[in-house]
Amino acid sequence: MEFNTKVIHGGQKPDPSTGAVMPPIYQTSTYVQSSPGVHKGFEYSRTGNPTRTALENSLASIENGNFGLAFGSGLAAIDAVMKLLAPGDEVISTNDLYGGTFRLFSSVFKKFGIKFHFVGMENVDNIEECINEKTKIIWVETPTNPMLNIIDIKKVQALSEKYNTMLVVDNTFATPYLQKPLDYGADIVMHSATKYLGGHSDVVMGALVVKDKELADKLYFIQNASGAVCGPMDSFLVLRGIKTLHVRMQRHCENGAAVAHYLRSHPKVGKVYWPGFEDHPNHHIAKSQMLDFGGMVSFSLKGDKYQDAIKILENLKVFTLAESLGGVESLSGHPSSMTHASIPKEAREKTGVIDSLIRLSVGIEAEADLLRDLENALELV
Ligand code: PLP
Repeated sequence: MEFNTKVIHGGQKPDPSTGAVMPPIYQTSTYVQSSPGVHKGFEYSRTGNPTRTALENSLASIENGNFGLAFGSGLAAIDAVMKLLAPGDEVISTNDLYGGTFRLFSSVFKKFGIKFHFVGMENVDNIEECINEKTKIIWVETPTNPMLNIIDIKKVQALSEKYNTMLVVDNTFATPYLQKPLDYGADIVMHSATKYLGGHSDVVMGALVVKDKELADKLYFIQNASGAVCGPMDSFLVLRGIKTLHVRMQRHCENGAAVAHYLRSHPKVGKVYWPGFEDHPNHHIAKSQMLDFGGMVSFSLKGDKYQDAIKILENLKVFTLAESLGGVESLSGHPSSMTHASIPKEAREKTGVIDSLIRLSVGIEAEADLLRDLENALELV
């Protein structure tokens, strides 16, 4: 089945009890048993809920995996992966990654005896320098948040195979429409489904997809044992969002390209970060592992003045100033004071998150309105 058909039909069948084409929102915590332990496959909604199952089957299908797991947030999904580890284990992670992931690693799991190395993975050699017999997971985010660096998944996978570690890819920015890490040999794909999968800024949710049954069983055990599951209403909304993922992503990519080129030609703009530029350091990798370049664009201002960035953000009208990304509406953000404030200034600036950096999640509105909005705000500085 082609991807554009999978987003609509993958892993789905009409509801067995009524024939409803969309799975009903099974708003129930528990299920009748005719005798202790005798039931229709569901016993308690932390363990399993039919609406969540429908979503989990869809997730598995669109990522070319065999098993999907949905969680109460992206961070809850990451938390479940980290619970595969034991004290003494080590993780090598991208250094340019979502601030909340950095915080979970360095402020929560570090306390439980897990060691994290944060390295620039645009150069894969940096990973090999940190690998040792305690390395259990290589954590990749590509494109990275917010600098839009591109990491070569195939090369990192070859390293993870050589050293027998697990490879996890946070596929939130790309979505399976643009890139399917399991096809490149990753062990786990992770999503903040809050973003493009949900696509309408109305749900907080996380997801994992794997191919391997043994790994899936371990993660299902953690999902049920720790209990960070999502509810049936949210499962329904994300399942509905996924059905238009391909058409939304196509427009996100078109508008993202238009915004990136416009910004690059603007005299007040410093650098523009977007993997579609031919002189982006890893453009050739983006071209080979992604279908297109996505809807995320970051840029800095000439002179790097914090106040100028704030003025622009206060005056954008179509781009809404808000945390998050991946919804149909365009959003703007100031990583150093918002999404990435939990990363110490020194570490942040090393990766390029300077005071004037602005991150745009380019939505699916009319291109002309987006460019005019940027033009008007940039005029004020
Ligand atoms: N990964 C990435 C790349 C993100 O951008 C985010 C949130 O912004 C997360 C993970 C965390 O997801 P959530 O906010 O759904 O917990």
